[in-house]
Amino acid sequence: MAVLMKGIEVVNAMKDRILKEVEELNAKGVTPGLAIVRLGARPEDLSYEKGAVKRCEGMGIKCRVFEFPETITQDNFIEEFKKINEDAAIHGILLFRPLPKHIDENIIKYVISPEKDMDCLNPVNVAKVFEGDETGFAPCTPEAVMDMLEHYNIDVKGKRVVVIGRSMVVGRPLSMLLLKKHATITVCHTRTCNLEETCRNAEILIAAAGKAKMVTDAFVSKGQVVIDVGINVDENGNLCGDVDFDKVKDLVSYITPVPGGVGAVTSSVLAKHVVQAAKRR
Ligand code: NAD
Repeated sequence: MAVLMKGIEVVNAMKDRILKEVEELNAKGVTPGLAIVRLGARPEDLSYEKGAVKRCEGMGIKCRVFEFPETITQDNFIEEFKKINEDAAIHGILLFRPLPKHIDENIIKYVISPEKDMDCLNPVNVAKVFEGDETGFAPCTPEAVMDMLEHYNIDVKGKRVVVIGRSMVVGRPLSMLLLKKHATITVCHTRTCNLEETCRNAEILIAAAGKAKMVTDAFVSKGQVVIDVGINVDENGNLCGDVDFDKVKDLVSYITPVPGGVGAVTSSVLAKHVVQAAKRR
């Protein structure tokens, strides 16, 4: 059986570092503050919010949830959002997406202040990720993957890394973070030919396709590191990743579980970002 890369171990290691930084901020009279902005109340948003608030408050970050009706007009939302941007007690903002259809994300992404944009929505932060400039904020999930690899001492330098998925939330920014660490990246997607063979040829395989258990034994090879970003529901209604864990776990050398893998680290990265934003201010 492969080494199980447990999110909780990464979370605990990060927690000690973050708590120390929060103490230093407190000593200067600063309490890091996070605003969670939500339109409506989707169950998956509420579930993530609950976990994120618990994680952040446990690290001394003050959280405030701003819930707006799904029917709010775009102009009113922008007006409200600007107030949150300007609130000095708030260092970081997390906006749940997707937004309701009548609210244009292409407009809102320019409204969120880049200095408070914790999940890389503003194009300024996106550009910084692509430029390898660490003064911005990368999206939390790709950064959680990087933190997980680092925690388990898996150096990506010079390695063949295959990422399945090219979304702006996970696949693309993750590829850029890996590239900055000198990995040799192949990004796969729905039009990729010879997907199985390409994946087998990787030393590190990262699945972020959102397709339950699509990565079977045919996708992996001996000794690989397999990171599963997917969060899906299987045919029995249970949470599962993009990787068919049972078929793969005895073939590879490292593997992340779902749940309890990358997803568990994401909210700690959010906390890390809020503290960074408070320190930068
Ligand atoms: P998305 O649907 O926006 O993108 C999926 C990508 O995978 C696309 O680029 C698509 O081309 C590719 N893809 C889909 N099916 C494929 C296939 N059969 N073969 C090859 N490529 C394929 O999804 P996303 O927002 O990037 O999320 C991906 C997964 O990660 C989802 O399961 C999502 O729930 C999960 N996720 C997890 C976290 C976390 O904290 N762990 C955060 C965000 C997203």
